[in-house]
Amino acid sequence: MAKLEVITGPMFSGKSEEMIRRLRVAAFAERNLILIRPNLDKRPERNVFGLVETDPKLRGYSKLISRVVLSANDLNEIVSLHKPNVIGIDEVQFFPHDFLDLIINLLDQKKDDDFKIIASGLNLDAEGCPFGIMPELMARADEITMLKAICTKCKSEGAIFTQKTAGSIKQVEIGGDKIYTVRCRKCFIRQSEIPLTS
Ligand SMILES: [Zn+2]
Repeated sequence: MAKLEVITGPMFSGKSEEMIRRLRVAAFAERNLILIRPNLDKRPERNVFGLVETDPKLRGYSKLISRVVLSANDLNEIVSLHKPNVIGIDEVQFFPHDFLDLIINLLDQKKDDDFKIIASGLNLDAEGCPFGIMPELMARADEITMLKAICTKCKSEGAIFTQKTAGSIKQVEIGGDKIYTVRCRKCFIRQSEIPLTS
């Protein structure tokens, strides 16, 4: 039966590593895999494809296709050609709404098949609001894994907020630990409440 698994949480909570772990399990079962990510985030240290390259099972696995995807049409074409059992989507919060429609359609079309979509992405933006299509995916998921980080201020476990420390007030701004940190509910400050450039 088709299944939607969601991996979510703040930055630095290990979402990409968890994605890799699940793909590795599927690779041991000889499944056809597709791993996609949007073309927004080009930092190699944040790139899930970099993790594939260093994984002993996934590196060189011939049934895995890794692609930067620009549109839902792109993904549809890859799916038609490769006939995956598993589609891993990294940074899913950056994909536009037509991706959500495609994901829902694929799950519907393949509901009787050995087919799984693993969608990984941020739960919240730096304002503390649900990010992009993530809430829609979570509502439709068979399984949700909520990963947490350690608060960089009070060091408590269970930080679920991604906080901006520099940069602008734009929702989508690429920048790793130079402009983002993780905070617990008690220590989190919304970006609208801290002085950032516009
Ligand atoms: Zn804290």
